Amino acid sequence: MNTPEKTALVTGANSGIGLALTQKLLAEGYRVIGTSRSGQIADFSHPNLTVVTLDVTNDASIEQAVAAVSQLAPSIDLLVNNAGVGSDLGTLVPERQSLRETFATNVDGTILFTEPMLPLVRDGGQIIFLSSKMGLPAFAASDSPAYRVSKAAITMYAAVLAERVAERNIAVTPMHPGWVQTRMGGSSAPFTVEQSAAGLFRGIEARPESGKFWNVETDSLIG
Ligand code: NDP
Repeated sequence: MNTPEKTALVTGANSGIGLALTQKLLAEGYRVIGTSRSGQIADFSHPNLTVVTLDVTNDASIEQAVAAVSQLAPSIDLLVNNAGVGSDLGTLVPERQSLRETFATNVDGTILFTEPMLPLVRDGGQIIFLSSKMGLPAFAASDSPAYRVSKAAITMYAAVLAERVAERNIAVTPMHPGWVQTRMGGSSAPFTVEQSAAGLFRGIEARPESGKFWNVETDSLIG
């Protein structure tokens, strides 16, 4: 097997879209550092995959994970912020608990992991956020308020970050992965994880204009 030229880091690589994208990136010749809360990925291993423990809601865990990544790979080509929760999916009324839980992972945790990772992302590299079109005003509906607002927030953070890292030529892209058959997406979703991962990879290869929102369903920018 050839030595991979590119290194990607994928958060939440142990299940759903994160696992499928990890497998796709490995198949495309990347070396992947995958994170999981348990420090393991059950039922999957690959010579070019290393697993690092990360809970984005825990500052000590973030610090340890970033230190571990810097030992493994001082330069990351692609950072994929995939870890997320949908605590209030399908409910109508926002509550303090669901807002806290959702924001702790999807917003605070995602931002507070990304910030210390920035020095490790190489100039000219890419940062992807698994956002959702559920967080775009054009797709607003009455359900899942905490989840929708959390994805709107991370889409805006991506746009803010894009401005900040433009001088390093780092492209930042919030992406909608489609409605996908996962623990979160449920079994009636139209996309398999493999289809979504292939679409996300096409989006990564397309390297859209930094800060803009990419929709895997249409392989194009929206919003
Ligand atoms: P899953 O529930 O299958 O996977 C979520 C992943 O996030 C798991 O690996 C989970 O780890 C990890 N995670 C959750 N909380 C934390 C945390 N505090 N720290 C670190 N990792 C954490 O969901 P999906 O694969 O469906 O979702 C992946 C991303 O895609 C999410 O951000 C989601 O919002 C987004 N998305 C999904 C859509 C869909 O239709 N499925 C549509 C639009 C966006 P663990 O196994 O330990 O819980």
